[in-house]
Amino acid sequence: MATSRGSLVVVGAGIVGLATARRYLEVRPGSEVTVVDKEHHVAVHQTGHNSGVVHAGIYYAPGSLKAALCRRGGELLRAYCNDRHLPYEAYGKLVVARTPDELPRLRALEQRARANRVPDLALLEPPAMADLEPHVAGVAALHSPHTAAVDYGRVAETLAREVEDRGGRLLLATEVTGFATDHAGLKVVTSAGDLATDRAVTCAGLHADRLARLAGDGPDPAIVPFRGDYYRLAPDRAGLVRGLVYPVPDPRYPFLGVHFTRRVSGGVDVGPNAVLALGREAYRRTAVDRHDLAELLAWPGLRRLAWHHWPAGVREVASSVSKLVFLAAARSYVPDLDLRDLVPAPSGIRAQAVDRAGRLVDDFVVHDLGPVLAVRNAPSPAATSSLAIAEHLVDRLVGAPA
Ligand SMILES: Cc1cc2nc3c(=O)[nH]c(=O)nc-3n(C[C@H](O)[C@H](O)[C@H](O)COP(=O)(O)OP(=O)(O)OC[C@H]3O[C@@H](n4cnc5c(N)ncnc54)[C@H](O)[C@@H]3O)c2cc1C
Repeated sequence: MATSRGSLVVVGAGIVGLATARRYLEVRPGSEVTVVDKEHHVAVHQTGHNSGVVHAGIYYAPGSLKAALCRRGGELLRAYCNDRHLPYEAYGKLVVARTPDELPRLRALEQRARANRVPDLALLEPPAMADLEPHVAGVAALHSPHTAAVDYGRVAETLAREVEDRGGRLLLATEVTGFATDHAGLKVVTSAGDLATDRAVTCAGLHADRLARLAGDGPDPAIVPFRGDYYRLAPDRAGLVRGLVYPVPDPRYPFLGVHFTRRVSGGVDVGPNAVLALGREAYRRTAVDRHDLAELLAWPGLRRLAWHHWPAGVREVASSVSKLVFLAAARSYVPDLDLRDLVPAPSGIRAQAVDRAGRLVDDFVVHDLGPVLAVRNAPSPAATSSLAIAEHLVDRLVGAPA
């Protein structure tokens, strides 16, 4: 099959893949772009199972890709949602120090957020906290008024329509199983036949490492799936929280701790925790995928991670099997919360890269593999950052300075 000049195959119809396809068509109008996904719909995995928060850039190491792309991505996303009349609610966020011993970490977080130029931050004392969130208890809080909520599934559907409107093609229910190069160029091998193309970019989320390996990359870092369980506040108790309320995170982990998130639909989610999932798409607590599990247990990085962080692991598992333990975490800063207020809600699974040494890879990671560009780590805030990640990837694909 002949290819048009500059043709591109994008693997993955999550928000990162779809944003990248759209951006490529914006930069190279008229080129042949195909987005391939093994699922029957877009946004089936992380993009459709997350907290829906547009992060303002508080947490990320200054100078990192996350810090830069989260700020830029958040601005692009706000404009994108406004232009297309997609729901976007700037509820604002409180990061709460529950006890005096959390204050140094809260101040360190404030410094980091200021280094990242998060706009209009304020460190609040209890009376001002109570004005914003009357049911929240704590000794101080960092307030980020522009942290917002969206529906990333709807954003992804809108991006998909735009890709098609610009002449791109969505090839769903089609799994990518390999890559091959010959004199004619690159071939993406799929369950529906081969796709000839000039370049490919893999945005495969929970399978990011597998796709990169298929394109000739090494095994490091591997994706480790961390399930996040959620509860939802019973509708008559959704008034307990007005916006987004988070604990001060433990800086040793990329996860933010069980938090309260007001959704654009009006409900309030509580969660997620972070428990090792026994399969990359094992959404139910009892689900196991033997192949995934065997691969996971063989990764030296997982054993090292478990060795160093087993107390946190035990805590998170306890919050998964016991609603009381989950409640205790949430009640530590919303004390009026009661067991009956929490209604189970669907879980999500995070694709978190872990390197051979057992470190949780913090920043976004992209590997250049000749004709294939492979996204190897795009955890939170990759949904917030997606339109900026797309710019970054397309700059790398077309050769502009990244
Ligand atoms: C519980 C949870 C809460 C989160 N909260 C937030 C938040 O509030 N704010 C935020 O910014 N981020 C958040 N995130 C992170 C965010 O959701 C992800 O970083 C983002 O959705 C990643 O998008 P993606 O397109 O890379 O991956 P995905 O959405 O997972 O898409 C990857 C796609 O690749 C496809 N695929 C994989 N392998 C193949 C193959 N071989 N062939 C064809 N297709 C394939 C999959 O089917 C999938 O559709 C959260 C994530 C989770 C799980």
